[in-house]
Amino acid sequence: MPYRAEYLWIDGTEPTAEIRSKTKILADGAEPGIWGFDGSSTNQASGDNSDVVLEPVFSCPDPIRGGDNILVMCETALTKDRSSHPTNTRAKAREVYEKYKDQEPLFGLEQEYTMLDLNGWPAGFPANGFPEPQGPYYCGVGAAKIHGRDIVEEHTTLCIEAGLMIAGTNAEVMPGQWEFQIGPADTLTVADHLWIARYLLFRLGEKYNVEMSLAAKPMKGDWNGAGMHTNFSTNAMREGYDPIIAACDALGEDGVPAKHLAGYGVGIEERLTGAHETQRYDQYSYGVSDRGASVRIPWQVEQDKKGYIEDRRPNANADPYVITALMTETVCSALAK
Ligand code: ADP
Ligand code: MN
Ligand code: MN
Ligand code: MN
Ligand code: MN
Repeated sequence: MPYRAEYLWIDGTEPTAEIRSKTKILADGAEPGIWGFDGSSTNQASGDNSDVVLEPVFSCPDPIRGGDNILVMCETALTKDRSSHPTNTRAKAREVYEKYKDQEPLFGLEQEYTMLDLNGWPAGFPANGFPEPQGPYYCGVGAAKIHGRDIVEEHTTLCIEAGLMIAGTNAEVMPGQWEFQIGPADTLTVADHLWIARYLLFRLGEKYNVEMSLAAKPMKGDWNGAGMHTNFSTNAMREGYDPIIAACDALGEDGVPAKHLAGYGVGIEERLTGAHETQRYDQYSYGVSDRGASVRIPWQVEQDKKGYIEDRRPNANADPYVITALMTETVCSALAK
């Protein structure tokens, strides 16, 4: 029986790259090979030289279609010499990981997102109005507080069936806002799995007519934004406290915060205001248990004198390949000294 491979790739949409996909029918036993697409329709090429190459790099079962069907994550490459396409952020993450993989970098990404109706209004917000202020919703339970849980459960099942390293889920501070975590996994794996988990989320949203938004500040005013907290460790950080502090200091070196924020997604100034469990975008700080710092050292890590740090700054709409490449490069190069 022929089977279906859903090829996934990251496009060139500005300012926030998105995931695209298309289907290839393969003969029984055939492997998914290189393929291509029309880059002039994804902001990745001009019309007169439109073909962009898809190079499979990771595949897993397709839990939506089931059977032998698969999802195939691809990198994008230029036709002329098969070099990486300028929008291929995974290529950079691959190079950085190759350079520092002896430090065994591990990531846990907390993807927050908001369920919107097709008018762009969050689930749990009455039409033309607002719900009760924030307070009861985070990790809440009950019909008046919680909206979309069936979808969350179904998404979690899909991630597990695909073999993704989903680590947990929770309802967030704003109604209609949710989180799932992927990890701990290395620089490349965590981002591959995160992008596929996003694909499954958006794809599932089609069935329910729910638009899954990664916007960093979907509701202006006194409503929490959506981030992608990035938990990070190396083998040295998992064994001692000095490397934990060295990592926090490396992230605060001259010029480093600005370089990181540039890769942490769109709408950083709107979300990192200093309120709603954030530090201001123009200040860098770290602290134990401090959810108002740029980087938090979890309480347990301070107790154990080893573990990981949490960079709280990345936005929900950031490209995980960009985040993990920045983090691996900054911290691992400092710890290598
Ligand atoms: P919180 O909401 O309290 O900030 P979460 O439980 O949502 O934390 O996320 C913590 C994440 O940290 C999890 O995804 C987990 O996999 C990850 N994590 C745990 N230990 C490590 C580690 N040593 N290195 C990197 N990530 C880790
Ligand atoms: Mn066509
Ligand atoms: Mn969390
Ligand atoms: Mn959260
Ligand atoms: Mn967190």
